[in-house]
Amino acid sequence: MEMKGKAALVTGGGNGIGRALCLALAQKGVRVTVLDYSESSGNLVGILEEEHAKLYKEFKRPTAIFVKCDVTNRGDLASAFSKHLEAFGRLDICINSAGVANTIPFFKDKSTDGSGQWRRVIDINLTALIDCTRLAIQIMEAGGHKGTILNIGSASGLYPAYNMSTYAASKGGVVMFTRSLGNFKRKGIRVNVLCPEFVETDIGRSAPSKIIEMSGGYLPMDMVIKGAFELIEDETKAGQCLWITKRRGMEYWPTAEEKKKYLVSSQAKNNISNKTQMNFKVVPTITDNFEKVVVFKLDHNFRQATKIERVHLKLPVKPGHVLVKNIYAGVNASDVNYSSGRYFGNEKEAGSRLPFDAGFESVGIIAAISDSVQNLYIGAPVAAMSYGAYAEFSEIPAKHVIPVPRPDPEVVAMLTSGLTASIGLEQAGKMGSGQTVLVTAAAGGTGQFAVQLAKIAGNKVVATCGGEEKEKLLKDFGVDRVIDYRKEDIKLVLKKEFPKGVDLVYESVGGEMFNTCLNALAIHGHLVVIGMISQYQGQRGWQPSNYTGLCEKLLAKSQSVAGFFLMHYSHLWRTHLERLYNLYSDRKLKVALDPKLFLGVKSIADAVEYLHSGQSIGKVVVCIDPSFSQVIARL
Ligand code: NAP
Repeated sequence: MEMKGKAALVTGGGNGIGRALCLALAQKGVRVTVLDYSESSGNLVGILEEEHAKLYKEFKRPTAIFVKCDVTNRGDLASAFSKHLEAFGRLDICINSAGVANTIPFFKDKSTDGSGQWRRVIDINLTALIDCTRLAIQIMEAGGHKGTILNIGSASGLYPAYNMSTYAASKGGVVMFTRSLGNFKRKGIRVNVLCPEFVETDIGRSAPSKIIEMSGGYLPMDMVIKGAFELIEDETKAGQCLWITKRRGMEYWPTAEEKKKYLVSSQAKNNISNKTQMNFKVVPTITDNFEKVVVFKLDHNFRQATKIERVHLKLPVKPGHVLVKNIYAGVNASDVNYSSGRYFGNEKEAGSRLPFDAGFESVGIIAAISDSVQNLYIGAPVAAMSYGAYAEFSEIPAKHVIPVPRPDPEVVAMLTSGLTASIGLEQAGKMGSGQTVLVTAAAGGTGQFAVQLAKIAGNKVVATCGGEEKEKLLKDFGVDRVIDYRKEDIKLVLKKEFPKGVDLVYESVGGEMFNTCLNALAIHGHLVVIGMISQYQGQRGWQPSNYTGLCEKLLAKSQSVAGFFLMHYSHLWRTHLERLYNLYSDRKLKVALDPKLFLGVKSIADAVEYLHSGQSIGKVVVCIDPSFSQVIARL
């Protein structure tokens, strides 16, 4: 949403969060009506006009007005909105920030006429806010242009505030009221709610200092403004509740998982599976036999461990299974760990499984289906994350396939690589926003997703890579500081430019890089071990490394190191894939595919070696059936 020239009305604009928002709006060229019951806040108008004039001389005055109004007086409120219209002729943004906290608990309120303090809290915080929203919607609808309403809620509207129950009740009401207005987006009006934890305002100061301290201290006003503008400017946000805390940064409430528990039919709209209803249907021909890559001896050298076998294709498929014609398969750093048997326990156990099929992930088309399988059909494009993907056909349990809109290589990249970044950062990294996040091997398969997701979450991102082309890709992704270790010393850069350290590390290189990252970690910092690619191809396979003084370092700075292995999070795959796909469809997430072509099963060992050469950029993908991929490309 372009802000310059727009007109906003801010209730409670004379003080606290409302005042800060008025200033921020003026600095973006928005004309502002400050609505407040306290006349003393009228001097703000001059400041706003000055701010506005610094940047935008062309606007005629007034660019700000003050209207004295008690929001609980319906007559005064309606006339305040009219005064705004008289001054600016339009209402694009309405921010409802007027609010009070209770100072005496409701059960100690002795008044008999119902005019107790608790009732005033509800009247101002909730009833008047509903009235303001009503007036704003009516004006926006009548004006015929898009508008946005931002209600200032509170973290007390999301979880209990034991000493401020009526305040919490009013804010809980604001949250649910606002979330229930999401469908106004259809009319071009977006209503959202911002729920900050403690901010140093009159209301924030009324909370017990011990609780403020326990929650990590006051939130900086900058974070509140940033959250508010995300809801105001991002045109996809409607009926959204943004929760901001000092401890965790910015998070939308409720999470997708929580929403899933109560959504019935509306959930289906955004479901990745439902996007398959895009008339995509290509029926593959089933051949008598097919080729696949088989691990026949345990070795971290993928080429030596594997061979290509031509096998008979058995039909019908087993009950509960589907036969997938694979079109693209994804190449992963861990293919060499898999071929060395590391995924199957000790060497003896792994050896007893030989020979076994290689490859972790693919996209393709359902070629045959068992009678017992419902909700899938022959010709449906699907993704699968199961062993045996380096094959022309795979028989897979139906519950393990995920319907996708198209069997494109970008979707393969979102599987192991995308999901590792998405789930790893959320679950093991507990990523918030407003932090500094360091990603290693950042231009690789999974690194590319990690940097972008960390940016989308509102973090400063530092990324390491080797080579100019990778540096360019990462800059295109919006990374704030790219360190090309071929040109610069990572240790020196981190020490000089991030003296306080980084808050979160997504580390997948291992060895010396792990040490460097650990030393660059801030107090309370968190390092997630995603992998250790530099150790995968030691002389006898995966080389263990000793990290001297690890415990001492962690203790001295209250830091933590967490491991992450995607297989342990299979319950989250569908939700996160859907999230990634939606970001990709909304053009908020890019997917970089390595330009080198690997065609057919015969090229798989080359592709694995290429990934480990360090030259690849983005996701390395093998096109299993080039002729079929051309058919699909034309659709
Ligand atoms: P990738 O990042 O595409 O791997 C290639 C990149 O890694 C190279 O471009 C190079 O980047 C770096 N690299 C390659 N060989 C190296 C070496 N010997 N020493 C140092 N750096 C080297 O591969 P990926 O499949 O996405 O995997 C990346 C990491 O994530 C791996 O450690 C992998 O095991 C891990 N992973 C873990 C999970 C999990 O569940 N935990 C899932 C997927 C992946 P630069 O030279 O530009 O740094």
